[in-house]
Amino acid sequence: MVNPPKSHLLLDIAGFRQFDPTRQAELVSILNNMSAAIYYLDRWGVISFTNRKACQKHPFAEVKGKGFLELIQHWADPNETQRELMQVARTGVPSRAVRERTFEHGVECWFSVDKLPVSDTENQVVGVILVILDITADVEAERALRESEARYKAFIFNSADAIWRYDLCPPVDTRLGIDTQVKQILQRALLAECNDTLAALFDAANADEVIGIPLHRSGSLSGRKHVSTFVEQGYKLDDSEFTRQGGSLDSPKTMQTTAIGIVENGFLTRAWGITRDISSQKRNLDHMEYLANHDSLTRLPNRTLLYSTVENTLQNLPGQNRLMALLLIDLDRFKEINDTLGHRAGDSVLQQLGPRLEAELSEMDGMVARLGGDEFAIFLPRIRNSHQAVVMGHRFLDCLTEPFDIENIRSEVSASIGISIYPTQAQDLSTLMRYADVAMYHAKSALKGVSVYDPEFDPHSPTRLELVGALRRAVREEGLMLHFQPKIDMKSHKVYGFEALLRWNHPVVGMVPPGEFIPIAEKSNMMYPMTCWVMENAIKQCAIWRNQGYDITIAINLSARNVTDDRLPSEVKKLLERYQLSGKHVEMEITESVLLVDPKKAKQVMEEVAELGVVFSVDDFGTGYSSLAYLKRLPVETLKIDKSFVLGMLDDEQDEIIVNSTINLAHNLGIKVVAEGVETDDVYQRLHLYDCDSVQGFFIAKPMSIEVASQWLGSSQWAF
Ligand code: C2E
Ligand code: CA
Ligand code: CA
Repeated sequence: MVNPPKSHLLLDIAGFRQFDPTRQAELVSILNNMSAAIYYLDRWGVISFTNRKACQKHPFAEVKGKGFLELIQHWADPNETQRELMQVARTGVPSRAVRERTFEHGVECWFSVDKLPVSDTENQVVGVILVILDITADVEAERALRESEARYKAFIFNSADAIWRYDLCPPVDTRLGIDTQVKQILQRALLAECNDTLAALFDAANADEVIGIPLHRSGSLSGRKHVSTFVEQGYKLDDSEFTRQGGSLDSPKTMQTTAIGIVENGFLTRAWGITRDISSQKRNLDHMEYLANHDSLTRLPNRTLLYSTVENTLQNLPGQNRLMALLLIDLDRFKEINDTLGHRAGDSVLQQLGPRLEAELSEMDGMVARLGGDEFAIFLPRIRNSHQAVVMGHRFLDCLTEPFDIENIRSEVSASIGISIYPTQAQDLSTLMRYADVAMYHAKSALKGVSVYDPEFDPHSPTRLELVGALRRAVREEGLMLHFQPKIDMKSHKVYGFEALLRWNHPVVGMVPPGEFIPIAEKSNMMYPMTCWVMENAIKQCAIWRNQGYDITIAINLSARNVTDDRLPSEVKKLLERYQLSGKHVEMEITESVLLVDPKKAKQVMEEVAELGVVFSVDDFGTGYSSLAYLKRLPVETLKIDKSFVLGMLDDEQDEIIVNSTINLAHNLGIKVVAEGVETDDVYQRLHLYDCDSVQGFFIAKPMSIEVASQWLGSSQWAF
């Protein structure tokens, strides 16, 4: 580094004459420490001083006495610079911060040049100070910034995504409660920047038209829900999806927004985001999903969708009380159609099948699926009982056997349907499928059309035989017992009788529900001895209670087989005599299905039993299909509305209508009505309002053992 000799300096700064000469050294030190190059020129433009920075480029000795023009030959326009310099010297008017560009050895540099006139005491310009600051780095940074800004603008403006910035005026305090923040954001966020793509979403021509619009007026673009998700997620939205209703002609669009909020000192000041229309991706995805889940020939759900639907339903069951059915349909001799009429005809039959099956399902929840070939499945997620599944099975069968029109030839198909029931038979999908399959093969081989799974059909099920043996032992060796559930008279609100419900305490598996062992008993000639055991114990207990002073009746459930059994009347007579009980204190509950088997025989047996004073009631009324008028021809005094209608009658209008109208119809025919499955006081009150005669259900009491029932009789508010 070359320092200009001090002696010269002192001599040559003529322009600083008014400056205290004793402080010249101080002045020179200041100038030398400045980061700008400083030149002092006399009024003729001759260099007479340079500071240390200037000397770095040209040692003072080289430039002293030269014209400034000589030094700046590589400047963009040296003559112009010289002219300006002379103008300052002439006029005494300073010129500041003029940008000069230089090219030295091919390198571009930028300088900011101040030309400051120096005057003497008479205000005569005696020289000019040039302050030259290298601003190359600043200019480059500015340029880079400008370029990146331009790139950023181009990116934003050409983007197919809507890009936006909302400013919060004033900012929102992030310590406030979420609801308050959401409210304030919606009120205070103003659109500060966006591209035309966003404007288009507002139905505006360009961005200028929408800048300044508050967030709460952005309509479907950002509902309260999104803002609240944004706040909850820490001022972020990640690919949050929403549907935007288009104009009247447009279909709804699926939009996706990603956004980030800027929080400064605990205040949300603005938010940036991108919103894109993903409708077409979504459509593609939906279409792919559709293809993966549907059969291409019939457009019905395929096996994958059926399985996932069943699994989901099983997993999301609200309570265990719900029954479901799986029906497997296999066309009979479908191969013949294919072989004789050709595959196109076969395809046509399969295509016509789907709509037919679906039409049958229209009043009921369910899914029709094609499993492949000529195999279909129907899932019924909500049935009242297995009987209803059988009835549906027959309806499906009927609709399939309607002739098909194939290329002007009328042809017929028949089918076999196997049914499995959840949860009484199978508790998981694969067992449901297997059982429905076993039942379907049984239906096919036995030419039955429709058949419900039975362990008997199933060569792989060891449980049936084992259960039959154990049940036989139970009947013999007192492994059975009765539970008693009270029936309440709605006029007095007091108990008038008990229903005897059979229980089997299996030595290994524990309590077996009657729904599981009664069907087994029915198929193995055990029903009669079992019913005799029930009748004997029920009648005996009723007599005991009556002898203790409780005026109550006993109701006994009969199975279809019992009602057509000649031995029944004499057995009842014998038991009544043995326990000294009048027949009028005994009630027999039968189901409608008994009347379908052999109605003539049933009528005869029932009339003989009725002669003993015993009354009959029809159980599970509403689930079968017999009419009230038909029942009237039998000695029936009461009907029990099935609990499936009563349980949810306050939530299901349909059920409530059935209950109410059944009560009215029955009363018109002189038949009394019992509602079973009363679980709440509300249902109890409503039935009272509808003039129901009596009720039974968990609201009053669950079925109880003899001991518990006896205690209940002595202490309950429902008892005497
Ligand atoms: P059921 O004759 O319709 O008996 C009523 C069933 O509903 C009983 O189930 C009872 O526990 C249940 N129940 C009563 N109140 C309510 C309620 O408020 N809510 C709900 N969710 N359920 C209630 P259980 O004891 O399991 O009996 C099932 C079926 O087994 C009986 O239906 C009946 O058909 C049959 N059964 C029971 N004992 C015998 C019998 O000795 N002989 C014959 N043949 N069948 C019997
Ligand atoms: Ca019953
Ligand atoms: Ca019932």
